[in-house]
Amino acid sequence: MMDGAQRHQGAPGRAGPDPAGLNGTSYLDSGYLALPFFDDTHRAVAARLQGWLRDNEAAISALLAQSPKQATRGAITMLGDAGWFAAALGEPVDFRAICIMREAFAYRDDLLDFAFSIQVLAALSLLQWGSQDLRRRLLPALVRGERVAAFAMTERDSGSDLAAVALAAVETAAGYRLTGEKNWIANADIADHVVVLARTGSGSIGLSLFVADTSDGVDAVPVALIAPRPFGDLRFDGCLVSKDRLIGDNGAGLAIALDTLEQMRMSVGAAANGFARRALDEARRHVTKVRANGRLAEIAAVRQKLAQMGVAVHTARLAVAQAAWEMDRGGEGRSVSSSVAKLVATEAAQSVVDACVQLHGAAGVVSQSLPERLYRQVRSLRIYEGTSEIQEAIIGEAVTFGFLG
Ligand SMILES: Cc1cc2nc3c(=O)[nH]c(=O)nc-3n(C[C@H](O)[C@H](O)[C@H](O)COP(=O)(O)OP(=O)(O)OC[C@H]3O[C@@H](n4cnc5c(N)ncnc54)[C@H](O)[C@@H]3O)c2cc1C
Repeated sequence: MMDGAQRHQGAPGRAGPDPAGLNGTSYLDSGYLALPFFDDTHRAVAARLQGWLRDNEAAISALLAQSPKQATRGAITMLGDAGWFAAALGEPVDFRAICIMREAFAYRDDLLDFAFSIQVLAALSLLQWGSQDLRRRLLPALVRGERVAAFAMTERDSGSDLAAVALAAVETAAGYRLTGEKNWIANADIADHVVVLARTGSGSIGLSLFVADTSDGVDAVPVALIAPRPFGDLRFDGCLVSKDRLIGDNGAGLAIALDTLEQMRMSVGAAANGFARRALDEARRHVTKVRANGRLAEIAAVRQKLAQMGVAVHTARLAVAQAAWEMDRGGEGRSVSSSVAKLVATEAAQSVVDACVQLHGAAGVVSQSLPERLYRQVRSLRIYEGTSEIQEAIIGEAVTFGFLG
């Protein structure tokens, strides 16, 4: 009998169809993985991932042709079957492995990274702070990709400022009744479980984290994004959540939410690096093609742009590798390193993707061309899980008090 991983794998060594033009692509280069921040386990993860992505190219392309909802659900099943959520959610969690995975998934397509990262983000708070019983009941199906999770923190008036969250959780004999709205939530319209930050008291210690079932009175209102994904608002209309669905202590919700976001933050930078490397590869392919009068790459100004793109990618990858290593070793500077990595890499990816569009000229703004898709897909990374300005505020405080620089 075939296991899940085998079901999605072609025969070893067979390249298979290549509609995305990716055969021969190195999703992760050996020079980067040879950095002392990584060890043999990370190189093994990268090698397995590279093989899996190549062997499953036909299945991935077929997925991406579906609607965003179907494709994301399908990707979660596929990633779970292949054991990628299990690889991400070990104990202890290996953030360098998560970054390697996110960079490679984002290089292949934003949707793979989206499907992977939201499930991991939501499961992480459960893994690290949930009771034994809650973990036993909910985590296995999430890790296998059989159920889908969302991580619902933001409200329209409290995105950057989570301490102002208003969604109410009122304690009753039967459990907590959740009433209110969450906005801008990834997986909103496909999630089975929602990790939700809700108000159980006043002030920043009056917030608690719960895991609710969407079938218990949570309605999704889809919101269309410039890069279409399952996404939207969640309405809680007296949704009953039993007391054993509390993640961590009553009142500890904000601290757990911020800790979870902080740990995953540098991995947003890793995804940004995947987009940036794809854009750089695509730009290189374009400018080295022979044209009527030579190659664009022979023009000094074009070379200079390539140099700027190369430097941006190189420095961003170093920042992410350092931050992930710091997170894994529990270093004192892990929080600020995670912010630096997210800021550097997402800003770099934005400029590299923009340069890729520019180097393609009109061909770069054709709808559904690769530069155009990357241009739309990369934009939200500077906004979610802490905007660039919020990262600057965190870094500015660290510099002020001598923790950085
Ligand atoms: C694609 C996508 C997916 C998302 N997925 C999720 C999800 O799954 N779960 C979830 O909970 N949320 C999610 N979000 C929401 C996201 O986390 C918020 O959009 C983000 O935190 C910013 O909040 P906001 O949109 O309310 O903007 P605001 O907080 O209103 O910020 C608006 C502007 O003001 C600036 N600003 C605000 N406060 C400060 C400050 N103190 N200092 C400096 N500048 C400031 C911001 O940097 C920004 O430029 C997602 C967003 C996107 C775009």
